[in-house]
Amino acid sequence: MLPAIEVKQVCKHYGAVQALDNVDLEIQVGEFFALLGPNGAGKTTLISIIAGLSLANSGSVNVLGHNVISQYRQARQNLGVVPQELVFDPFFTVRESLVIQSGYYGIRKNTHWIDEVIHRLDLTDKADMNMRALSGGMKRRVLVAQALVHKPPVIILDEPTAGVDVELRQTLWDFIKQLNQDGHTIVLTTHYLEEAELLCNRVAMLKAGKIVALDSMENLIRSISTGYSIRLRLLPDTLPAALHTLQTGYHSGFYDLRIKAYAQIESILALLRHEAIQVLEMQLQQPDLEDVFIRTMQNTEHRQI
Ligand code: ATP
Repeated sequence: MLPAIEVKQVCKHYGAVQALDNVDLEIQVGEFFALLGPNGAGKTTLISIIAGLSLANSGSVNVLGHNVISQYRQARQNLGVVPQELVFDPFFTVRESLVIQSGYYGIRKNTHWIDEVIHRLDLTDKADMNMRALSGGMKRRVLVAQALVHKPPVIILDEPTAGVDVELRQTLWDFIKQLNQDGHTIVLTTHYLEEAELLCNRVAMLKAGKIVALDSMENLIRSISTGYSIRLRLLPDTLPAALHTLQTGYHSGFYDLRIKAYAQIESILALLRHEAIQVLEMQLQQPDLEDVFIRTMQNTEHRQI
């Protein structure tokens, strides 16, 4: 099967700034993919090139086998992009702007799908309102709707939840997850790493225009895992000597212990019980995507020096 997105040796510079430096990336059909990186890493530049809105200095990009320059129309038909910037025409209502957007893709009778998109994004009572009268979060919902009017098999969302409330996030993710289950490929950029961790199966991390990590979510998190840490608040506030070898710290009444496997928890609790020490609170912490992100960005800094 053809990859959903194929980026080959793409370079892009703006004057002296190397926004993308020889990027190679293949995203398969059906993936829920996270494209992560700090501000200025090159995510939006890469998305603009995939969408055919910006030209690479070298390299090539295909969407479902269609080159984004020489086969622009076919590539664009297969792609829906939710841009980061709120751009819209203030003179139309929500529904009108979706009908016009359908027209750009040559779709005349789209009422059924437009109604569904409006409903799924909770825009029904705003459908006949003028775009300029909508709040920022509502406008973002319309941007998502606009990207989906032609039911594109590949959907890219560039920070779709920046500055939007919890309710929209939930509504939006439910809808996007459903589209992914129906076979749509989803590419997401976000600074909310916990969102990416919950939703995405595979991750690329960009830094200064280069891909510095590319793997499944599971492998990336496992790669930095050195076990788990448990935090215990005890009564009396004392840690039995037998547990001192596991202790990594003591902060604000909590003992931090490092363990290698869940099975160790049982013996720790048994030991505390034996010593008549009561557990007042217990927290278990596992490494997450944020730890991977911080570690990756720090490590690549050292490598570049
Ligand atoms: P953010 O998380 O802040 O959205 P990003 O990863 O999307 O960042 P880009 O917007 O792709 O990053 O920017 C990559 C680099 O290219 C930055 O150094 C940026 O200043 C530069 N850049 C982007 N667009 C232009 C432009 N039109 N002209 C000049 N420089 C640009």
